[in-house]
Amino acid sequence: MHGQLSDSVGTLRGVGPKKVQGLNKLGINTIADLLGYYPFRYDDIAVKSLAEVADGQKVALKGIVASEPVLARFGRAKSRINFRFLVEHDVILVTFFNQPYLKQQLVSGKEIVIYGKYNAKRQALSAMKLLANQGGNDFTGVYRASKEIKATTIKSLVKDAYELYHESLQDLVPVKLRAKYRLESHQQIVHDMHFPATAKAANLARRSAIFEEFFLFQAGIQFMKKLARKDEGIALKYNNDELRAFIKTLPFELTAAQKRVVNEICADMRRPAHMNRLLQGDVGSGKTIIAAIAMYAAVTAGYQATLMAPTEILAQQHADKLADLFEPLGVNVALLTSTTSNKAKLRQELLAHLAKGEIDILIGTHALIQADVEFAKLGLVVTDEQHRFGVNQRKDLRQKGAKPDVLAMTATPIPRTLALTAYGEMDVSIIDELPAGRKPIKTSWVRKKQLKELWGFVAQQLELGSQAYVISPLIEESEAIDLQNAKEVYANLAQLFKDRFRVGILHGQMKAAEKEAIMAAFKKHELDLLVSTTVIEVGVDVPNATVMVILDADRFGLAQLHQLRGRVGRGSKASYCLLVADPKTDYGKARMETMVQTNDGFIIAQKDLELRGPGDVLGSKQAGIPDFRVGDPIADLKILQIAQMEAQQVLAAPDFLTNPENAGLIQYLHQKVGQGQKFD
Ligand code: ADP
Ligand code: MG
Repeated sequence: MHGQLSDSVGTLRGVGPKKVQGLNKLGINTIADLLGYYPFRYDDIAVKSLAEVADGQKVALKGIVASEPVLARFGRAKSRINFRFLVEHDVILVTFFNQPYLKQQLVSGKEIVIYGKYNAKRQALSAMKLLANQGGNDFTGVYRASKEIKATTIKSLVKDAYELYHESLQDLVPVKLRAKYRLESHQQIVHDMHFPATAKAANLARRSAIFEEFFLFQAGIQFMKKLARKDEGIALKYNNDELRAFIKTLPFELTAAQKRVVNEICADMRRPAHMNRLLQGDVGSGKTIIAAIAMYAAVTAGYQATLMAPTEILAQQHADKLADLFEPLGVNVALLTSTTSNKAKLRQELLAHLAKGEIDILIGTHALIQADVEFAKLGLVVTDEQHRFGVNQRKDLRQKGAKPDVLAMTATPIPRTLALTAYGEMDVSIIDELPAGRKPIKTSWVRKKQLKELWGFVAQQLELGSQAYVISPLIEESEAIDLQNAKEVYANLAQLFKDRFRVGILHGQMKAAEKEAIMAAFKKHELDLLVSTTVIEVGVDVPNATVMVILDADRFGLAQLHQLRGRVGRGSKASYCLLVADPKTDYGKARMETMVQTNDGFIIAQKDLELRGPGDVLGSKQAGIPDFRVGDPIADLKILQIAQMEAQQVLAAPDFLTNPENAGLIQYLHQKVGQGQKFD
């Protein structure tokens, strides 16, 4: 009888409450977690002779301590031990950093084995580990450890767990695929990830583990989709004639991409299945009007619709636009933000109307998800700039209705290759075309010493009747400094342009009403130039603004710069984006050059990932790519794509649910979905 992989790690011998706690902190709760806690690196600790060691290589060397080790401490936590080490006939210099306790074991004249990085030129070894005298495996995994739990503890626990539980390790990747791609069985993977006999074994196990991880992730997504399809949603029987008539009244013709996307959305809404669709389009591609059309469709079907935006400015802007569009049609549009909440009476009235179904379309910020906001009959939920909201906020909004259809909009460019991974179980519509007549934004990278010329250029544009934004950087650590920064920029420009142009300022600390007033003034061209912190980063639409100056541009991420740049180039006039920066590093320079070279959000996203390099968890998180344990969706992209394709095929097979070969996989997927591990 063998145990269950879901058993607590506390069932292992020698693991008391304290160790359990320490392991939990590392994310290890169950035996399955422990067996899936793979080493992050492998060291080849077979002793080599100096002749076969290349410069910079990590290697285990055996030799004799040839001088009395000297321990030097500097600072509170830093130290260094130096000594000479006789390896065969050569003497090399060994340094151990920050392991002062090793000094007792480093006795002059004693034979030891040290693992470290060899510097051939200096004949020196930067030591990492003092190895117990040989024995056991020459190739060994290194685990991420913590203060409470040492790497060696993990290693021995994994050993125990493997012995007791290995028979419970089940294959989830179908046999056929394992044969096709020459992958190891799950049991073999777990064994060789932890205890590989050779580097080759470790590599094969890793490749298999990555495939397994990506395959299961994608299978989970496909499974969720399958379940959702069965799930009864609302069939929104919209009025096609009214919808057509509405689209005809728009001041412009929809682009081909917009038309295609409208069709995709309408087809979804009409079906009883629950719509869960992501609308992706670069900044300025015209997503708002798509939301308006979808919401109008819901209204003609007799339902209410709601649109959630990440900032008050944006919510206000949407409300103004939609009210203009819809009022002639007798559709009631209302706005709910935290400012509305300040006026208790107004808010109560609004909520009462909403609950009675007298408001058709409600626009707002996250104020929409407060408990007392109740719809009479909510049919469609739209989130704008959806990446700005947490998973829970989006879910809370959905739960305001009985399975309303969901349309999430985003401009966050993400390489196409990763879309499937990042967007989880959503269906994706893409607007891949800008409205006709847009002139490409001309981007220049300007050094700080050229600021004078820059302001001269800005003045020229303002003379021509255009408007400009100047963005002062946001330094996350200190809002106070940012504010001061923005105020200084404002004061300087107000002085510089005195009597010539009207300069305004907008920042995050202003009251909502003040922000609104400033934005309204800018829209009406009562201001020529707006100094702002990044509060205007998303969504703001003032087509007469054609100049975007970004100060200290190297402080921003590429995606953010692209969003900021997207505030201009919204009309038919030529637009300019001026990035002011003196980056010191090659990386910083390459980033500025990328912005100058392309206006395409997808290319920028790809470049961003390349420049940052794989393994940048934070960067991929921002793009919505989940964290994987073994695989890296960027470095291991090929495997990701193959695993995705295969998972889709496996789950699409008509006999997927009935084929006994899939029993284990299906059970696993049910469990995963049951545990609320949603891929949203
Ligand atoms: P985003 O996709 O960044 O949210 P918006 O919806 O704010 O873009 O649209 C940008 C601008 O383009 C708006 O001023 C909008 O009215 C305009 N627009 C949208 N669709 C078209 C179109 N088909 N032709 C011309 N202008 C359009
Ligand atoms: Mg927008």
